[in-house]
Amino acid sequence: MAGVVAIFDFDKTIIDCDSDNWLVDEMGATELFDLLLPTMPWNSLMDRMMRELQLQGRTIEEIADCLKRAPLIPNIASAITNAHALGCDLRIVSDANTFFIQTILKHHGLLEYFSEINTNPGFVDEQGMLRILPYHDFKSCLPVCDLESCPPNMCKGRVIERIKASLDGNKRIIYLGDGKGDYCSSLNLREQDFMMPRKNYPVWDLICSDPSLIKAKIHAWSDGEELESTLLHLTHTVSYLEDNIHDESNDLFISGFGPLPISVPH
Ligand SMILES: [Mg+2]
Ligand SMILES: [Zn+2]
Repeated sequence: MAGVVAIFDFDKTIIDCDSDNWLVDEMGATELFDLLLPTMPWNSLMDRMMRELQLQGRTIEEIADCLKRAPLIPNIASAITNAHALGCDLRIVSDANTFFIQTILKHHGLLEYFSEINTNPGFVDEQGMLRILPYHDFKSCLPVCDLESCPPNMCKGRVIERIKASLDGNKRIIYLGDGKGDYCSSLNLREQDFMMPRKNYPVWDLICSDPSLIKAKIHAWSDGEELESTLLHLTHTVSYLEDNIHDESNDLFISGFGPLPISVPH
């Protein structure tokens, strides 16, 4: 069994779009969204947009059906099922919401592979309205995080800190993400962990601005195929190191930034 906790961002890491933008655009509400965006935080705006759509007569079923059409990153389904088969503990840390993520993952038969989803609450309230609330209650307290790249409603670094504290010391984290909000996570990874940023996306740019701030080994990916081969290669490598724990020269296998072998044993 691999001693790996693989933590996935959701938007543009599991699905190949931003679920909030996808829904707003597909439902023809882009104009209203753009009009309101300067007036309120993104997370509060999504709650407002759900209300507006439902007041216009859109049903929760229509919203769910729209989400089910969101495209997955190619190869992500096999990356998830193969990593799970190798014994990885798979989790999600996302600034989307539980309703969107569960609807999409369930539709593709992938929900059961994840042990934990850390995201903004998305649920149907007593009035039958779909609501989206913040992960952190950001109105009643000081900012959760000083980092400019963290939105007020969710600091993913905080989530990573909690996960690290709950793990036994030998477990390694592999973190996959694309966005600005994933930068705080990457700063919170340890030397034995791996950061898998999506190449040429915001988190990649932030990491490249000063790679010395990241303790984890960095392995970028450009498409789903590279995501899958890298994730499985790293998982195999961790298993190999566990089996050969006494030979420290094995750390050569996981030096950062180096090219990975092309063929990956499955
Ligand atoms: Mg993302
Ligand atoms: Zn943060």
